[in-house]
Amino acid sequence: MRLPKTIRNLIEQFEKLPGIGPKSAQRLAFYLLHVPEAELEKMGRAFSELKKGTLLCEVCHNVGEGERCEVCSDMTRDQRMICVVEQPLDLIALEKSNNYKGLYHVTHGAISPLNNIGPDQLFIKDLKDRISDGKIAEIILATNSTMEGEATAMFIKKMIEGVGVRGLKVSRIGLGLPVGADIEYADETTLSRALAGRGEY
Ligand SMILES: [Zn+2]
Repeated sequence: MRLPKTIRNLIEQFEKLPGIGPKSAQRLAFYLLHVPEAELEKMGRAFSELKKGTLLCEVCHNVGEGERCEVCSDMTRDQRMICVVEQPLDLIALEKSNNYKGLYHVTHGAISPLNNIGPDQLFIKDLKDRISDGKIAEIILATNSTMEGEATAMFIKKMIEGVGVRGLKVSRIGLGLPVGADIEYADETTLSRALAGRGEY
């Protein structure tokens, strides 16, 4: 039996989402058939407004609602520290761990030659501009401990050394984080410990 075109179309869209296979996509589509139309319209609006209502921070590239995100606008935070993470969700995880009060830089991915992702596809190079005035005392590299995350950390370390800011310390988050782990999924205690136990890189 061939499914109606609108259902097939919806299934195809769901399949594009991470972690959703054909079976789950089908289940979701049929589930939605039972949801009242007003509810569906609300969901649809949430989808279409997602991009319109969010902006990437012009300084750190975190997601926010204005040109500067909440973290960058908060002058009570330590303006001499930048923690580099791959994704906004990593930033949120670190914020929940509640013992880091510095700034961030979100690269929006990791260097992955196999997937044709190089530094130019990511927000990496503008980190140089943020350190060039010499006001930053420490960069904490909190990219994931995957192969791609390590390659990204190594690239950034070399790039920073190339700028040659005197007294700038580069450290790497690590202790307690299993190899291959995503920062996003680490629990708060592990993240706190990993931050506290960061080593010079
Ligand atoms: Zn920001």
